[in-house]
Amino acid sequence: MMKSVNPATGELIKVYDNHTEKGIQKIINSVDKCWHQWKKSSFFQRSQLMQNLSSLLRSNKEQLARLMAHEMGKVLFEGVAEIEKCAWVCDYYAVNAENFLENEVIESDFSQSYVSYQPLGTILAVMPWNFPFWQVFRFAAPTMMAGNTIVLKHASNVPGCASAIEDLFREAGFPENVFRSLLIGSEQVVDVIEHPAIKGVSLTGSTAAGRSVASVAAGVLKKCVLELGGSDPYLILPDADLKAAARICAAGRLLNAGQSCIGAKRFIVTDPVYYEFLEYFTYEMNKAVFGDPCDGETTMGPLARIDIRDELHLQVLMSVKNGAEVVIGGEIPERKGAYYPPTILENVKPGMPAYDEELFGPVASVIRVKDEKEAIHVANDTPFGLGAAVFSMNMGKAQQIAETQLQAGSCFVNDFVKSDPRLPFGGIKGSGYGRELSSQGIREFVNVKTVVVK
Ligand code: NAP
Repeated sequence: MMKSVNPATGELIKVYDNHTEKGIQKIINSVDKCWHQWKKSSFFQRSQLMQNLSSLLRSNKEQLARLMAHEMGKVLFEGVAEIEKCAWVCDYYAVNAENFLENEVIESDFSQSYVSYQPLGTILAVMPWNFPFWQVFRFAAPTMMAGNTIVLKHASNVPGCASAIEDLFREAGFPENVFRSLLIGSEQVVDVIEHPAIKGVSLTGSTAAGRSVASVAAGVLKKCVLELGGSDPYLILPDADLKAAARICAAGRLLNAGQSCIGAKRFIVTDPVYYEFLEYFTYEMNKAVFGDPCDGETTMGPLARIDIRDELHLQVLMSVKNGAEVVIGGEIPERKGAYYPPTILENVKPGMPAYDEELFGPVASVIRVKDEKEAIHVANDTPFGLGAAVFSMNMGKAQQIAETQLQAGSCFVNDFVKSDPRLPFGGIKGSGYGRELSSQGIREFVNVKTVVVK
């Protein structure tokens, strides 16, 4: 049984029955059967359907944003922006998929030789709750445009979003079984991956879930893409525009109440500008208006679940116990719901959760360093490698650090890390492997087939 619970109030919204063993088999077999037709559809046909889907998303954005607000606490304006981004990724692949997957002729000794990108079949998506629409659409749009079909196992706390996504595909006119949601728990994922009709799996979630899914996929030799957690470092160099940096860093930390894999998490500040930056940053973090996600004045809602809030608070308490100092926040407010205030910890050192682990909420870890060299060392001193940012007015130097020194999949200069349909997205180290979005993402679940004619 899956429960949809409003994190702002603790109120039970709806209970969903899990799919039975028989139900799961039936859905997977239907989606597999559908693939044999779907793979024969033209790019033009797929693109028409994708554009229907983007129109449907845009015309329902307010209602879908409200669903997210109720089910996982996202503030309405962020929910609307998320749905608009989903529509964008649908349009992007509707227009570009055919070019990305065009045959590539390769000169050789044969009369013809080329690479053709062929769909693999039915792909399983295991997705998290933090961007309950965007995470699914950024995977689904390219994967389906490439001619694959999809079964989705969404996070257990967003069954309403999972069902709404399935309905959207149907209403947009896609064949019934091109995209289906499985309402199952994480313990049932093993059987789905091992099902012979499943040809690959993409997981977005925690490192622990990634490790588990990757080992099951490896056991049956199936392609796997992993988009995992991060502890993104933001380097504040002595020549940074400190006011702008503080504003951007706070925005990057508080987006989605801090529950973003590419959220700004560790702020590594060089000694000469430490106090000035901290003052501006504290001012910006304090500006957040946290409260009811459906209230138009609110800029930051509750966390998605009480247990997530409690785990975050424990990480803060453990860090403080080991010497970190609370600049602002750090206490659970006396109100109903999974709320946690914007929090800044300073004097953060190795051996503390605020240094070593991902903090999935509105808590900023501020780390003071001597100079640029130490800043780069601390930035890379993490098991993760998802995103990173450098703040400096010396563009050449900042760009060189971003390009060659920082161990991360996306490195930004003077801005917070964002995903964009046109740019590859993914991590290295404990943040996973494989890429989503751009021309790279659409080539993850295809057979890169070499065709040779003598
Ligand atoms: P999570 O607990 O790992 O859950 C993500 C999904 O994986 C859910 O559908 C979950 O199902 C499933 N799952 C969990 N354990 C599993 C297992 N052992 N085997 C198979 N499936 C399993 O992560 P979360 O707490 O929902 O999301 C937050 C994490 O996701 C953070 O670490 C964040 O950084 C990461 N994330 C990464 C990206 C990225 O693009 N790199 C984007 C967003 C989030 P249940 O809900 O049923 O447990």
